[in-house]
Amino acid sequence: MRFVDADGAVAVEPALAAIAPHIAGAVHAPGEEVGDPFRFCQGAAAALAAAGGDICCRTAITRIEADGTRPAVVSGDGARLAADRIILCAGVASAGLARTIGVRLPILPMKGYSITAPPGPAAPTVSVTDAANRVVFARLAGRMRIAGLADLGQRDPAVDPARLAALIAGARAALPDAADYGAAGPGWAGLRPMTPDSLPITCPIAPGVIANTGHGALGWTYAAGSAERVAALVAAC
Ligand SMILES: Cc1cc2nc3c(=O)[nH]c(=O)nc-3n(C[C@H](O)[C@H](O)[C@H](O)COP(=O)(O)OP(=O)(O)OC[C@H]3O[C@@H](n4cnc5c(N)ncnc54)[C@H](O)[C@@H]3O)c2cc1C
Repeated sequence: MRFVDADGAVAVEPALAAIAPHIAGAVHAPGEEVGDPFRFCQGAAAALAAAGGDICCRTAITRIEADGTRPAVVSGDGARLAADRIILCAGVASAGLARTIGVRLPILPMKGYSITAPPGPAAPTVSVTDAANRVVFARLAGRMRIAGLADLGQRDPAVDPARLAALIAGARAALPDAADYGAAGPGWAGLRPMTPDSLPITCPIAPGVIANTGHGALGWTYAAGSAERVAALVAAC
C-alpha cells in the first residue's frame, strides 16, 4: 500500500484526470483485485455438487439444537436435520438463530445499496473508493458496479427509491463520467452483518456448532480466509 498525491492517483487511474483538482491524495493498494461474487457463488456451488454435496435452497431454519449427541437444525415445516457439525452463516439472521441455543452474537444490520450500469466515457478500470462521498466503483467485465450508503436500524432489505437516488447522486458527484447512470439497472440493497469491531466471528459457539458470520462490509473479501479458518475448526473439534 502506498500514499500518492493527485498526479500519482491519475497515473494509476487515468479516469481520475477530470477530477484531479479535487483529489487531496489517495491510498493505492497494487495487490487489490476485483471479483464477481455471483460468479464466485456459482463456482462454489458447482464445486460442492461435483464433490457429492447437496444444496438445499428456500428452506428457512427456525432453530438450532445442540443439546444432544449431534447438533441439528429445524426448518419452518418442522423437518429436523442432524449433522456432525453445523456452521452458522446466516448473515444478520445469525444472531436470532444463535439465541435459540442461548448464545448472544453481537451482530446488527447496516443496510447498503448498489447499482450496475454500463461504463461511461471515463470509467475507471482500477477499483476506486471515494471516502468523502462514501461510494465504491468496481469494473466487472464490461459493467460498472457502484456501491455505498450505510443505513443503521433497518432490517428490511427492500430497495428504498430515495436512498437509491442518494447513492446515484453521490456517485455522480464523485465520478460524473464513470458510468452511464441513466442506463443503470433496478438497483439492489443488502444488509451488512456488522460486529462492534468489524471483525467476523469464527469460533465454536456450542458443541458441534461453529459460527462463521458477522463479516460486515467485507464478507466477500474475508470469505476465503474465514472458510479456511472454519475448516480447521471443523477438523479440530
Ligand atoms: C451494498 C453492499 C456492498 C458490499 N460490497 C462489498 C465489497 O465490495 N466487498 C466485500 O468484501 N463485501 C462487500 N459487502 C459485504 C458483503 O456483502 C457481506 O459481508 C456478505 O454478504 C456477508 O455474507 P454472509 O454469507 O455472512 O451473509 P449474507 O450474504 O447475508 O447471507 C446470509 C444467507 O443466509 C440465509 N439465511 C438467513 N436466515 C436464514 C434462515 N433462518 N434459514 C436459512 N437461511 C437463512 C440468507 O438467505 C442468505 O442467503 C457489501 C455489502 C453491501 C450491502
